[in-house]
Amino acid sequence: MKKRLVVGNWKMYVEEASEARAFGLQLRRKARSLSGVDVWLAPPFIFLPSVAQVLESSPVKVGAQAVSSFAEGAHTGDVSAHMLKEAGANFAIVGHSERRIAGDTNERVRQQLERTIEAGLSAIVCIGERERDKEGEHFEFLEAQINSAFLTFPFTLSKVVIAYEPVWAIGKRADEAMQPHDLQEMTIFIKKTLTDILGREKASRVPILYGGSVEPENAGALVQEGTVDGLLVGHASQNFEQFFEIIKACKK
Ligand code: PEP
Repeated sequence: MKKRLVVGNWKMYVEEASEARAFGLQLRRKARSLSGVDVWLAPPFIFLPSVAQVLESSPVKVGAQAVSSFAEGAHTGDVSAHMLKEAGANFAIVGHSERRIAGDTNERVRQQLERTIEAGLSAIVCIGERERDKEGEHFEFLEAQINSAFLTFPFTLSKVVIAYEPVWAIGKRADEAMQPHDLQEMTIFIKKTLTDILGREKASRVPILYGGSVEPENAGALVQEGTVDGLLVGHASQNFEQFFEIIKACKK
């Protein structure tokens, strides 16, 4: 049985280098009890090398919260996929809604995805509607995001993960997150849309995560009833105890 995947996205919550390293050390110590689940962690760029070093010989993978659409050159403030790899990253998150709000279009997300895969990293592609409506326009919105990322995708999909993160459900408490039965409906829709593009066999190999107000209270129900392959965790990933509870809830 394939393991579930839990990804921690620290955003800017963890602010001190010493705190980031200490968290990494705690995860490394607990790594043996993590054997039934894959764990990835995305610290801010500046802490990535030191957290990657702390977790180097552990099963936990470290990656970036964002990546440049460009491979190299005059792009002030950008960090390329190649640089991330050099810094110890195994993956990058692309298309997070907080980056889309800051200006990342579907086209730019597609470029970031390509740069990430070209550099040999895994990519977590975030998709998610801003709001839901009775007419079901959110389905079209999602379909456009998926098509833009994967139509005529020139690479193998073995290093691609999709994270479904409805924007309206991000950054709240567990009781305001998406309900597991609604998530199940969205998971089916995402799988169908992917199957239309890639064919059943290839589409079935792309893991689908859920993100948006995951806390220890709702993690188990979301993965089981929501039928996702794992979770992308924001605010609850900054607290080691909470993050660890969520990881445990995802063990099969
Ligand atoms: C996120 O933004 O990726 C996220 C899942 O955040 P939170 O868990 O805080 O809703």
